[in-house]
Amino acid sequence: MTPMHLEIGDRLRLRKPHPCGNYDWVVVRLGADIGLSCEKCGRRVLLPRSEVERRTKQMLPRATKTETDAEFEMD
Ligand SMILES: [Zn+2]
Repeated sequence: MTPMHLEIGDRLRLRKPHPCGNYDWVVVRLGADIGLSCEKCGRRVLLPRSEVERRTKQMLPRATKTETDAEFEMD
C-alpha cells in the first residue's frame, strides 16, 4: 500500500466520528506520530501514521491555500 502523503493543514475524513460527532480533522503535526485536530471541537490527538492511514476514509480539499515548506515540522 502506498503511504499517504500528508502535510500540515491537510484535511482528513475518518471512517468513525469523534465523540463530538465530527468526522473531519486537520493535520497539525508531522513526525513519527501524526497530530490531528478535530475541526469541530478542536481536540488534538496523536496517532501513529499507520493508524491514521487505516482510519482515513478520504482526503478533503484544504480549507485555505497557505503553507510553504517552512511550515514543515520535522522531528
Ligand atoms: Zn471533536
